[in-house]
Order: sequence, then C-alpha cells, then structure tokens
Amino acid sequence: MIDPDCLFCKIVAGDIPADTVLETDDVLVFRDIAPQAPVHLLAVPKRHIPSIAEVGPEDHGLLGALVQAANDAAGAFGLEDRGYRIASNVGDEAGQTVFHLHLHIMGGAPLGALAVTDLQDRTP
Ligand code: 5GP
Ligand code: ZN
Repeated sequence: MIDPDCLFCKIVAGDIPADTVLETDDVLVFRDIAPQAPVHLLAVPKRHIPSIAEVGPEDHGLLGALVQAANDAAGAFGLEDRGYRIASNVGDEAGQTVFHLHLHIMGGAPLGALAVTDLQDRTP
C-alpha cells in the first residue's frame, strides 16, 4: 500500500530522489538527508506503515526483512565491528516527523547518550 501524501512512499516510488544504499523486494535503505552521525541511513519498508507501533502479526516477516536490511547496510559501511545504533521514533515526544515506519541506522563515531540525561522533575 502506498500513501500518496507520504514522503517516504514517494521516495520508494522514485518520485522523490534519494541516495539509495540497499534495496530488496520489500525494503529500501537510503541516506538521511540531514545526517546526525558520519553514517546515518534510513531503512524503510516499501509498504506504508505509519510507525513501528502499528505493526501487526501480518508484518512480522517484513520486520525481520527490515532489520536484516538495516544490519546488511551497516555492514556495507564497515560498522559491523565498530558498532552502530538502530532506532525508530514513535510519536511527538520521540521526535517522529515522517509517519512512515523507518529505522535510523547511525554510526561511524561514538554516539553518546541515547536520550535525555537530566531526568530530574521529569516523572511521567
Ligand atoms: P524521524 O524524525 O521521523 O524519526 O526521522 C525522519 C528522518 O527523515 C529525519 O532524520 C530527516 O532528516 C529525514 N528526512 C526528512 N526528509 C527527508 C528527505 O526528503 N530525504 C531523506 N533522505 N531523508 C529525509
Ligand atoms: Zn509511506
């Protein structure tokens, strides 16, 4: 399924150019347009799913293929031994801006803390 208003669906369809680094039947991996690490890639399923919070049993195979592609892309950039981070934002407080499931693959330098380090007065 393609959402005609979705940025990453347009990239998957080839309507918006992207720097593709790996493609399989079900997954596309391309460079993030505003990298936050020396290597910053995005792995997306070709099928439109709004976020990783909205996967169902029918998506289990696709999720496996997505993680496999993310790991393969990290390996292609020499990150296998150095280490890398895979992250997927869900919703506002996580900073999700594109509502098509994507895994961020980041590496190539020490990445630092995963999230806010000042937790004082931030009880949920
Ligand atoms: P989010 O904030 O939703 O977790 O991540 C969205 C990511 O998509 C951001 O890191 C942003 O830089 C990237 N991005 C936004 N627009 C484009 C685009 O047109 N092309 C590419 N390659 N990446 C994009
Ligand atoms: Zn989409």
